[in-house]
Amino acid sequence: MKVINVNGVFYDSNAYLLDAKRKTLVDAGIDGSRVLKSLPEDLELIILTHCHYDHIAAVPEIVKATGAKVAMHEADVPFIKSSKINCARMFGSDSPELKVDMVLKDGDEIDLGDVKLRVIHTPGHTPGSICLYEPVSKAMFTGDTVFEEGGFGRTDIGGNPEHMLSSLATLTRFEVVTLYPGHGNIVAENAPEALRTSLKSARFMLMI
Ligand SMILES: [Zn+2]
Ligand SMILES: [Zn+2]
Repeated sequence: MKVINVNGVFYDSNAYLLDAKRKTLVDAGIDGSRVLKSLPEDLELIILTHCHYDHIAAVPEIVKATGAKVAMHEADVPFIKSSKINCARMFGSDSPELKVDMVLKDGDEIDLGDVKLRVIHTPGHTPGSICLYEPVSKAMFTGDTVFEEGGFGRTDIGGNPEHMLSSLATLTRFEVVTLYPGHGNIVAENAPEALRTSLKSARFMLMI
């Protein structure tokens, strides 16, 4: 599966274009006009790893230009309209106007034609944070749950440290070759070690 990061500048999240039969974007970032320059007109789906502004603000502009459908975990859907919880206020903005077409649950399989993505519910950063797993290439999209070099998502902006720990433990049970985090670099070497390090640092830092 070909994956291209079409965003990821300053605080703006990464946005991964999956070049599957059904062209799909994982997270959208803030700056819709910049992301749109790298997107195909036949983009079909935008899967959001969670409700935070830096991942969802570009959605209305991308949907307007492409007609793509929007997918998000059920537990984060209510926060789309809350500028405090989705952090829009932190960015000095209002909540983006967007509609969720596909409400996701743990274990759902999203069929992209030639690629299937499994939804893993990983609360902790937000209640409805998800990771996506592609079993053939063993790719995992980790949103703001896991970053490179043992990083993991903040739990103090609407999250929960205990949930973060059990989510990180869940992720270490997957066979992973490449990690695609919501910010920073792609982890293409030693991805299992990166997951284990995130769990270890979270255990230490969250002191549970
Ligand atoms: Zn983020
Ligand atoms: Zn976030």
